[in-house]
Amino acid sequence: MQLKGMEVLRKGQKILECHDVPSSRLEAELLMAYMLKCQRHDLYLMRDWKIDGAQAQRFFDLIYRRCEGCPIQYIINKQEFMGLEFYVDQRVLIPRADTEILVEHVIKWASQEEGSVRILDVGTGSGAIAVSLAFFLPRARITAVDISAGALAVARLNACRHGVENRIVFLEGDLFSPLYGHSGAQLFDVIVSNPPYIPTQEIEGLERHIRDYEPRIALDGGHDGLKFYSRLAREGLDWLKVGGLLAVEVGYGQARKVKSILESTGCYVNIAIQEDLAGIERVVSAIRR
Ligand code: GLN
Repeated sequence: MQLKGMEVLRKGQKILECHDVPSSRLEAELLMAYMLKCQRHDLYLMRDWKIDGAQAQRFFDLIYRRCEGCPIQYIINKQEFMGLEFYVDQRVLIPRADTEILVEHVIKWASQEEGSVRILDVGTGSGAIAVSLAFFLPRARITAVDISAGALAVARLNACRHGVENRIVFLEGDLFSPLYGHSGAQLFDVIVSNPPYIPTQEIEGLERHIRDYEPRIALDGGHDGLKFYSRLAREGLDWLKVGGLLAVEVGYGQARKVKSILESTGCYVNIAIQEDLAGIERVVSAIRR
């Protein structure tokens, strides 16, 4: 049985609309294009295109998954970050536009350095930070650590997709721990991280599409949300060169507290805060003295 593609698409859009999914037209198109393995604009280039019953069923299955609250990025397995397309699934946090501020800050700093810069990305997740740094800093050598083997598999895939796998070493473990046993581990010029920073008791109150779908381990920053900043600031001292850059993303209202954590070690200077496009303090950076 052949069905008119545009009619099925419209039906999908209506269903999304009834479930209060925003941008219902766009999302229906994205799901149809994903099902047909084509680009969204192809839907308008093909004239009077048809699909069969099995394809329509697959399309509606995707539509209903979206209606249940699954983020579209996990259904179509992609999210753009720094102009690059990343593969994502439920093993990793979906990369956020806010994190581009952090990456841009590191690119700016590293571009002023002579020679090849060594960068450590702690908690790499999808590899959004590590892969885009490798992509935009062609001389950088990067080590990317994550405690989740599933996340590392996704990050590796993204490194291969963007042709930078030869300049990224992936290590599995908790923060800096896999570096200690690793042959060839040296000090880094840059340590960068977007760690989990949601206070544990706030996780239940998050929006459903985050709370029920994104990996809890990528969100939970301990009782005050600051657990990883203290550890990065202290344990990072073993791995950051004198004069090297530590740069972290922080959650809403955390920047001043993270600044104090860095100050309290007495080992960092030039502690600075960068705002994101919405004027929210988003990145804290410092130089190892
Ligand atoms: N570094 C990854 C990102 O910024 C993962 C972050 C995380 O899981 N907390 O998207």
